Amino acid sequence: MREVYPEIFLIEEKGRFRPSDNIYILAGNDGIIFDAGYGYQKALKFFLKEFKKIESSFKKQRKEFKITRIIVSHGHSDHFSGLNFVSKALGLKIVLTENVAKTIKDKVSFETTFRGDDYEDYLRVRNEFIQKIWNGLRHIGTLLFFRSIHGLSYLDQPDEIVDNNSVILINSEPWKIFPSPGHSPEHISLYNEEKGVLFSGDNVLKMRSTWLGPPESNLTDYIETIKKMQSLPNLKLILPAHGETIENPKETIAAIMERMNERQAQVLDAIKNYSEKGVSPDQILDIIYPKTRRFTRIIGRDWVVLTLKFLEEKGIIRREIVKKKILFFLA
Ligand SMILES: [Zn+2]
Repeated sequence: MREVYPEIFLIEEKGRFRPSDNIYILAGNDGIIFDAGYGYQKALKFFLKEFKKIESSFKKQRKEFKITRIIVSHGHSDHFSGLNFVSKALGLKIVLTENVAKTIKDKVSFETTFRGDDYEDYLRVRNEFIQKIWNGLRHIGTLLFFRSIHGLSYLDQPDEIVDNNSVILINSEPWKIFPSPGHSPEHISLYNEEKGVLFSGDNVLKMRSTWLGPPESNLTDYIETIKKMQSLPNLKLILPAHGETIENPKETIAAIMERMNERQAQVLDAIKNYSEKGVSPDQILDIIYPKTRRFTRIIGRDWVVLTLKFLEEKGIIRREIVKKKILFFLA
């Protein structure tokens, strides 16, 4: 646990085979917890232990310490699984935006968010038979993964639903909740202009690009979101959901944009070079990742599919179905 801004504490919860999660405590007389982390026993125990340390340090300084609520940034299981346990253990009200509440309501709603359309599935896997097996394995794997590794638990009744665009008072100070889709559609962020502090969730990370892939991510939304973040008045500090805090937010966001433009140019170049015959997603992958390991290719494929959708939406490229294969051409 450490204080990352006066009276804002970061508890870093280690993940099982997963990156660690940042949970933030906005301490004071009417405080809030931002994000709930993993839901497995060891992580939760660790969280409570660290939380008590903050409480006792406040008490030692004779400052009032009362956390009243918990809110989560988005419906990914590494961020909301601890919700039920933490709220019960500390007697907190669960506050969610409508879209997050819908996503984590129950098994059916949660699983729906991971289902791609046929087009995305087709682009992701080479042939229909492999596609079916792959989807099945992916489905089972995802469930096991979320349950055992993240300690997944759903929530059907939050105590309070707030608007996607609203202002909440935390320790008598106004914090703006605003939608920040891109990484996932229901994602929200939290900003206090006077402090210049932004809780960015999974949208902006310091050391690596955040995961962006179908079906939940959308590049048009993502670019809009990070541009919006970059233009927040007085932005000084980004507190992300994973990794280190970001003291140079504008430069960090500019670097993310640059990286995205480079990767988009790679996809576009591949299509340009084959502009007459057309190029399939697999050929694009072969061009961009000629000798990479399978895992990198899977992540790379998610990125390529998302980029193809983006370029198609913008009218820069078009697709044609040639002998049951989707090929891309310049528009
Ligand atoms: Zn996420």
